[in-house]
Amino acid sequence: MGYRSDLEARLAKKTTKAIVDYQMIDDGDRVMVGLSGGKDSWALLQMLDVLRKRAPVKFSLVAVNVDSGYKEYKHGLIAQTCESRGWEHRIEHTGIGEAIEDILDDGATPCSLCARLRRGVLYRIAKEAGATKIALGHHADDFIETLLLNLFFAGALKAMPAKLVSDDGEHVVIRPFVYVGEDEARAYTKECELPIIGCCCPACGDLSLQRQRTKRLLMEMEREHPGVKNSMLKALSNVAPRHLLDTRLNPPGDLRTTVRLRADPTNEGENRAGRVERHHHIKVAGSVRL
Ligand code: SF4
Repeated sequence: MGYRSDLEARLAKKTTKAIVDYQMIDDGDRVMVGLSGGKDSWALLQMLDVLRKRAPVKFSLVAVNVDSGYKEYKHGLIAQTCESRGWEHRIEHTGIGEAIEDILDDGATPCSLCARLRRGVLYRIAKEAGATKIALGHHADDFIETLLLNLFFAGALKAMPAKLVSDDGEHVVIRPFVYVGEDEARAYTKECELPIIGCCCPACGDLSLQRQRTKRLLMEMEREHPGVKNSMLKALSNVAPRHLLDTRLNPPGDLRTTVRLRADPTNEGENRAGRVERHHHIKVAGSVRL
């Protein structure tokens, strides 16, 4: 069975690589896909369905849409599209939109609170639906933008995990599009004629200034030096902890030489045989202990 296009073949290769690299899907898994109706989640659902039919391991899919309760939100079209493609799905109606308005201070960015609330709903439904994995549509650009945002504005060197276990230990979240670019996800959704649905919340499209700036910076860098984004993604799996300043990774007290140094036998005061071996433990701070 061939792929419908070169694009689909490329995405299948990248997604399979991610699934294998991070051991995302096991035989018998029931994978719940968080389906917002945006380009990324549609592309992910479609791609996992393609792989499901070809993969040597057997797994099933269920798409779950969390409706935040905005009046114009086209959850009906999401349900209709899933039905027409034979995808098992569930639409969960919530009052998250209203709750955010109540909780957030004026002018605050709602997206992180929104994401947390939606994640909570997804965890609950995963249990009800008997899902063993929760798949989210974050792609390679999300990973490197998050890396830069944390670096520039949060004083942390971190992106996001491709596979993680929830804090309560009950859920495994996977991001099979870690190697797939945003442009590729967009093009694939278009190619598959899936309807991109806006979330209809007042903040939709209003990315925080920091994220906008980061996106622009990456775009400019990529234009000047094609391959920059790939290099950044590669860097996330090529970490050199000893070249960082985190003392939790490199406790200074543990940094000592392990080489046995031979002392100068002509030194007065050394032992009579003239052969002295001492363990020289050199602390990074500069003090020398014998
Ligand atoms: S744009 Fe709106 S719906 Fe989307 S994450 Fe932000 S707050 Fe939530």
